[in-house]
Amino acid sequence: MAGLNRQILLKSRPEGAASLDNFELTETPTPEPGEGEVLMRILYLSLDPYMRGRMSAAKSYANPADIGQPMVGGTVGEIVKSRNPKYSVGDIVLGYGGWQEYALSNGAGLRKLDPTAAPVSTALGVLGMPGMTAYVGLLEIGQPKPGETVVVAAASGAVGSVVGQIAKIKGCHAVGIAGDTEKCRFVTGELGFDACVDHRAPDFAKLLEAACPEGIDVYFENVGGAVQQTAWPLLNEFARIPVCGLIAQYNATTPMPGPDMFSVLRKRLLVRGFIVSDFASKQADFLRDVGEWVRTGRLKYREDIVDGLEKAPTSFIGMLQGKNFGKTLVRIAST
Ligand code: NDP
Repeated sequence: MAGLNRQILLKSRPEGAASLDNFELTETPTPEPGEGEVLMRILYLSLDPYMRGRMSAAKSYANPADIGQPMVGGTVGEIVKSRNPKYSVGDIVLGYGGWQEYALSNGAGLRKLDPTAAPVSTALGVLGMPGMTAYVGLLEIGQPKPGETVVVAAASGAVGSVVGQIAKIKGCHAVGIAGDTEKCRFVTGELGFDACVDHRAPDFAKLLEAACPEGIDVYFENVGGAVQQTAWPLLNEFARIPVCGLIAQYNATTPMPGPDMFSVLRKRLLVRGFIVSDFASKQADFLRDVGEWVRTGRLKYREDIVDGLEKAPTSFIGMLQGKNFGKTLVRIAST
């Protein structure tokens, strides 16, 4: 075993796009496991878009990576020394070793992999976090139904490729968006999406519209930015948008106009439009519950009543200007 451990440290936090200056390659002595620890030789390091977020100090759903420490990251490694009874030398484990050749672990969060079941690298991709992201995001939030149109960008990537293929398995029309024609060919030819559109094509908006003749029922939000702005006008009534990632905006130094999609993502906001008539079947429940609360004084109300039909226009315009105080009503006649 090498006596030295090469590590890539986070040297500084990027302003805008990340650059090589933000990283530093160092060599330190390979550490020895203490009691209860294992030493992993990293076989695979996963590189994921979320790492851009960890490089920044900005508030996110996870703590930022520390300056001067190895960059964080998911890894598949081989146990080369063990002082933990649960792990033996030679075990292959999924863990969070970071950007380095060797990493210590106390065993927490490690998962043993069976190399005969699947190539171990898949534990970081299709059978790992990205695959799971696609699976739950599409099925739990997107709720695709047969015949519906599912659109996903970064379609040749780790998450998007799985989203579109599960959409096909569920009987949907799957449309990918990717960054060049070669990726698009892969997305349709290899992955079996029905269509794929190059978001760098000058007529991207037209091409996307043509690829979605029935509109979009599930827009799996993987990138944000210009792609999002092109997809939204094509959304059908009752479309669902799992907000998974906004990679097109990760380097932005000023917020995009419009609602803050980072808040939607980070705070798991549920944003759903509705028309009251959608819930006509709830009317009896409404009358029972609210009627009771009003009767018992648990729910108060205020009315702003003017007398005479002729007052209606003024009252109406006043209401639009906020001059009403409570529910605006015109008393036209008394009992
Ligand atoms: P990918 O393997 O898809 O790689 C990133 C891809 O993003 C690039 O290949 C590129 O594809 C695309 N991309 C980059 N910049 C832009 C841009 N400006 N406009 C459009 N596309 C762009 O990454 P992952 O599959 O790992 O991640 C996809 C998304 O899912 C990311 O936003 C990530 O943050 C998010 N994610 C969210 C998780 C969650 O729990 N919410 C978990 C895992 C991932 P192309 O060339 O085709 O445009």
